Amino acid sequence: MVTVSPAAIAANSVILKLDGLTKQFEGQSSPAVDQVSFTLQKGDLLGLLGPSGCGKTTLLRLIAGFERPHSGTVELAGRPVCGEQVWLPPERRDVGVVFQDYALFPHLTVIDNVSFGLKTLARRGKLANPQIRAEAERAIALVGLTGLHKRFPHELSGGQQQRVALARAIAPRPSLILLDEPFSNLDVQVRLYLRQEVRDILKSVGASGVFVTHDQEEALSISDSLAVMRLGRIEQFGPPEEIYRRPRSRFVAGFVTQANFIAAERDLDVWQTLLGQFPIDDARSELQQGELMVRQEELTLQPDPAGGLVVRDRQFLGREYRYTLTTAQGDLLYARTDAHQRLDVGETVRGEVVIVQPPVFPRSI
Ligand code: ADP
Ligand code: MG
Repeated sequence: MVTVSPAAIAANSVILKLDGLTKQFEGQSSPAVDQVSFTLQKGDLLGLLGPSGCGKTTLLRLIAGFERPHSGTVELAGRPVCGEQVWLPPERRDVGVVFQDYALFPHLTVIDNVSFGLKTLARRGKLANPQIRAEAERAIALVGLTGLHKRFPHELSGGQQQRVALARAIAPRPSLILLDEPFSNLDVQVRLYLRQEVRDILKSVGASGVFVTHDQEEALSISDSLAVMRLGRIEQFGPPEEIYRRPRSRFVAGFVTQANFIAAERDLDVWQTLLGQFPIDDARSELQQGELMVRQEELTLQPDPAGGLVVRDRQFLGREYRYTLTTAQGDLLYARTDAHQRLDVGETVRGEVVIVQPPVFPRSI
């Protein structure tokens, strides 16, 4: 009997491995991508989340081979594609890319756009010519565009164009698909259903992917694992639930959770805040002051003329209300409550935090 060691199985299932990947553009004072290392398992979808300019596109371009790194390595399916002695051009990397602006060929029909990568495969002897049409049709059907083969890009809606771009990327069955903010040019409605659909499509073909977005909700909903990026670095990497529940830095907390951050002053063994006292976590024993993180759903409200918070705005969101509150210092707080708790704008309320020991971060600048 042949036995396969667990290590061999683990190595086989890694589709993408980055090690110390760094890229600095000429004339820039700091690297656009700075010492990025992570691995992605086969079949997983990684969300790459971060503010504009943090290096997301540059990182994707390094993986795809459109940029050369300063240092560091990229391995795809166990094969080094860039490093000190290695350089594989984009067309040899077996990677599909979907860009923010679709980047379809305007003078080609849907079927010709989708056939593009397949023809390259056929020229290299990796696909028989008669297969091109069948494979293109399969991809077009997968993205729900059957019947629109002969249309040109300008005869399609934005959402349909992005489906064509997706079909073009998945048609050659690449081992990895890279998507760079694919929905950011689309209406909110289209964006909401396309993101679920794209996840379903990628999962149905067993594709692995890196999905770039600056929208935290999109990142949380679509990803198997999430990388939060800032100033060229990965600040936190892990399952989305873990990043939401246990953000490691004030930046990640602010970016991913949209929580309230409330000034906290140390007073012996408790934090004093405008929402009351909280025990000090041992891990934070060095701080004299900080910012207490309270998620919108962790703040409950009770009418109380001495409560100190004034309701400034109320939004009805169907299942819940989202309240905007003003503190005595004029700061804003946000709370989400059950839809049956209706408070009036102008009412004075007391805020209570429902968790015992909310996280505290060093004060941000
Ligand atoms: P993101 O996609 O997260 O918005 P980018 O990867 O596009 O970020 O950019 C990261 C940083 O690198 C920015 O400061 C940007 O100005 C810079 N940058 C990107 N591409 C180039 C380039 N070709 N030449 C010089 N600087 C660039
Ligand atoms: Mg970008």
